[in-house]
Amino acid sequence: MSSAKKIKETLKYIKECSPGQDEFYQATQEVLFSLKPLLDVDKRYIEQNILERIVVPERSIIFRINWLDDAGVIQTNLGYRVQFNSSIGPYKGGLRFHPTVNLGIMKFLGFEQIFKNALTGLQIGGAKGGSNFNPKGKSDNEIMKFCQAFMTALYKHIGKHKDVPAGDIGVGAREIGYLFGQYKRLTGEFEGVLTGKGINWGGSNARKQATGYGSVYFAENFLNKYDKSLKGKKCAVSGSGNVAIYTIEKLYEMGAIPISCSDSRGTIYQRDGIDLKALKVIKEIHHQSLEEYATVDCKCEYIPLSKYPENGHAVWSIPCDIAFPSATQNELTLVDAKALKENGCILINEGANMPTTPEALEFIKENNILFSPGKAANAGGVATSQLEMSQNASMSQWSFEEVDIKLRTIMQNIFKTAYDTSVEFDCEGDLVTGANIAGFRKVADAMIDQGAV
Ligand code: NAP
Repeated sequence: MSSAKKIKETLKYIKECSPGQDEFYQATQEVLFSLKPLLDVDKRYIEQNILERIVVPERSIIFRINWLDDAGVIQTNLGYRVQFNSSIGPYKGGLRFHPTVNLGIMKFLGFEQIFKNALTGLQIGGAKGGSNFNPKGKSDNEIMKFCQAFMTALYKHIGKHKDVPAGDIGVGAREIGYLFGQYKRLTGEFEGVLTGKGINWGGSNARKQATGYGSVYFAENFLNKYDKSLKGKKCAVSGSGNVAIYTIEKLYEMGAIPISCSDSRGTIYQRDGIDLKALKVIKEIHHQSLEEYATVDCKCEYIPLSKYPENGHAVWSIPCDIAFPSATQNELTLVDAKALKENGCILINEGANMPTTPEALEFIKENNILFSPGKAANAGGVATSQLEMSQNASMSQWSFEEVDIKLRTIMQNIFKTAYDTSVEFDCEGDLVTGANIAGFRKVADAMIDQGAV
């Protein structure tokens, strides 16, 4: 069977088996189409039915979470862990707590994670989990109660050699602490079952910074390839969570000017650069809205959701040289891509997972704007999680500088792998194709070696 026909058949099968899972379909469509040049030259992947096998999770666990709120009322949420692929190592991937979480979102994120983890060059399989629990407006006590109930349902399915979750949207240091505490209480084991732990109880230096820093290192590698650099570049960043904050921090260190950030209610535009200190206080300590930032810093412009362009996002209408989408999926639309092009943006570097819609991606390719796909550009977080697992296994702790140097090297290698693969398949600089083929080939080869399991 031709590879084009196989891809079409597999996508039809996914659509039939996963009704309503739009984000999952979007992610598989992007990956499968980009694999065609590889499938054309190496028939083993079709002969061994790798496409059908790789799009189905090895296991999807769905559970009920009951927890007591501060008023003494029992609340119910849904919990998920999608253990997608363990061909090259134990399952690894974050937990997301957000009201939009459902099985389709978990499957899209788990699927992306397989290739991202393979690209790091480390021995980690792909997974994702989370809950439709909304942490916003909850007391610290309620967050703890929820995390304990979540872990009570999950603990039997994870372990340091089996599945090692980490953070994602809505799951930061506080939540990892409560989840870890409950795991320890239930099993009596102090083991590296989660990453993103506190520094004084098994965490790694630079894990918190790793995704944002890694995303900036990746962008610098890409620009250097074309004799450019971040120095002096105006950078639009979306989001104001973990990834966005540490992207902004590293951009300053590299001599760039981060001029924006955003959250689910609005966007901040600050011509002379975001005040990172104020941003950290508002978002990391007080968990407040960016409206608060605008009241402390009167030099900035605050654009609320109601003033966003139709079908677009204010953050991408701001003139910039480089865009760092670092909030959530499908946050950069065709309208946004056109605005970025109009304003002379030369690189879009995905810090978030799948932030660019398929229509926007098509436009970006047609207009020769450099594009770094999230599964390569934001892999620094999971790579550093694996470094945390290594430190736990050897009962050691590396300095911030040691971890940062390793992270920088890993990001350089990921860029090289994606770029060299794009050259190998005659599409130099197309890192979507390069990253997808490189990640897929590593996992698919392991699946073939391990037989029908
Ligand atoms: P986070 O700390 O929870 O921050 C998420 C940010 O995005 C917040 O500013 C949030 O605004 C905004 N946001 C979330 N949902 C939104 C929506 N529907 N519309 C508009 N804004 C929204 O999460 P994070 O860890 O930075 O993750 C951001 C992205 O990076 C996600 O795609 C995640 O999967 C990806 N990623 C994270 C890591 C990691 O190590 N953390 C690693 C790889 C990839 P509010 O504060 O108003 O909610």
